[in-house]
Amino acid sequence: MNHYNLIIIWAWSAWLPAWMYASRYNLKNLIIWAMPGWALATSHKVENYPWTISAPGKEIMDNFRKHAIESGSEILQDTVVEVNKTDTWFSVKTASGKEFSSNYLIYATWNKYRKLWFIWENEFLWKWVSYCATCDGTFFKWLDVAIVGGGNTALTEALYLAELCKKVYLIHRRDTFRAETSWVEKVKNTANIEMVLNEEVESVSWGMFMENVNLKSWKILKADGIFVAVGNEPETKIIDHLNPEKDAEWCLVVDKRQETTVKWLYAAWDVTTNSNKFRQTIMSAAEGCLAANSIHEDFMKSGH
Ligand code: NAP
Repeated sequence: MNHYNLIIIWAWSAWLPAWMYASRYNLKNLIIWAMPGWALATSHKVENYPWTISAPGKEIMDNFRKHAIESGSEILQDTVVEVNKTDTWFSVKTASGKEFSSNYLIYATWNKYRKLWFIWENEFLWKWVSYCATCDGTFFKWLDVAIVGGGNTALTEALYLAELCKKVYLIHRRDTFRAETSWVEKVKNTANIEMVLNEEVESVSWGMFMENVNLKSWKILKADGIFVAVGNEPETKIIDHLNPEKDAEWCLVVDKRQETTVKWLYAAWDVTTNSNKFRQTIMSAAEGCLAANSIHEDFMKSGH
């Protein structure tokens, strides 16, 4: 079993800065990712990350990967299925049967898509109901679709769908948005997006294919598919048995050094309580580098 100073699990945008700083401090480290970038990699456009005026999230993630690979990092594309902890180190098992150990872990995982729980949502999952416009938008080319949510994801995905689809209904439960104003303005200025405000989805109905989105107000929208973009929830199940403290939204409680309440277990990005929960790529990057720096401080102090 190969031993490392640090293993970085999963690959949100926290990993590159975490790896960069860990490597500069000469901490022997391994990155294990199932799918690099996840939400960032599927973002239609990112316009709020330094050095990027406007780029698909995948392009940013590809640059992250190129940076790491060309600098000689050790990356394993695999899924972590088990994490255990002894008094001295962590052991990490992957789906392909590999096993590693490390003194420290940075847990920077993806979050689960939040469901809306409307009638037939589960039954038509990934058929007419999707949580990722970038992944599934092309299936609805020239058709009419609905997208639900009022955050950055819903609005950027609505803009992407508007490039492909005939008509896009943006359904939001309020008449003000959580999303950045610049996205709201772009949506308002897009001719084939219709905002459907102060409305919630009750169900979908279908014949041979999906036909309608039925709203709780009894209004009916003609749509061939529906995208749900109502946020996400922290995914921590592989470390839950270590009993890290969580807040009311199930985010991992971390101190200002990014350490969880489990000794030597650090965390970064959406799964944590830090950055005032301002879930942006730039904050994730900062949390990743802070975690690596804190680990280096511990390492220098304790030699662990
Ligand atoms: P979010 O910001 O949490 O927004 C979720 C939206 O879904 C909110 O408008 C919320 O409505 C609505 N919602 C939640 N539960 C609902 C329900 N049961 N029924 C109806 N509507 C419901 O989630 P997000 O848009 O996925 O973004 C997640 C994080 O990633 C955010 O911090 C965001 O800024 C970041 N992000 C950034 C970018 C970018 O900068 N390019 C792109 C995508 C995401 P209310 O507003 O009424 O609560």
